[in-house]
Amino acid sequence: MQCKQASEMMSIRLDGHIDEKESALLDEHLAQCQACQTEWQKLQALDCLLSAAPMIQSPVRVRVQVMARLERRDQARRAIIGGTLLTLGTVALSLLLIAPVLFGLLNATGIAPVLIYGGPQALSHLLAVGENLGCTFVGLIGRLAIPLAILALCGLVSTLTLNGLWIGAMRRLRASR
Ligand SMILES: [Zn+2]
Repeated sequence: MQCKQASEMMSIRLDGHIDEKESALLDEHLAQCQACQTEWQKLQALDCLLSAAPMIQSPVRVRVQVMARLERRDQARRAIIGGTLLTLGTVALSLLLIAPVLFGLLNATGIAPVLIYGGPQALSHLLAVGENLGCTFVGLIGRLAIPLAILALCGLVSTLTLNGLWIGAMRRLRASR
């Protein structure tokens, strides 16, 4: 075996891919060749150092993982805050949309004018309205129930949809990083 071959065998042995025959030949050469023996000792020392390296690097890796986890948590918190704000915004918007409808209905039943343009007669008027309100109320509920239910449902659906879109967007943003 030549020194050059021996050197290759050393690398193969350190990688753990050497077979018995090659190993025996290498040992035979090492026993005869001082230069290769020195090189083999250096290579072993280097290999030992390299296999210890992951332990040296591990604190760095742990720190990177912790940072990544903190960032994920931060993103999750932002997503929750954003989702909540979006929900509140949607609810506010729904209320704004519902308000004219409600006002229209109150106006139609004669309650709103009294509430808004209330004068001295307002109270008696209101009481008179109140008397009728019992009957009106039942009818009103009947008339209002369906539109209100539909509006509530629309609000709920849009809120859930926007929330879902928001969370999906946040997920995609997180995945793209
Ligand atoms: Zn040699």
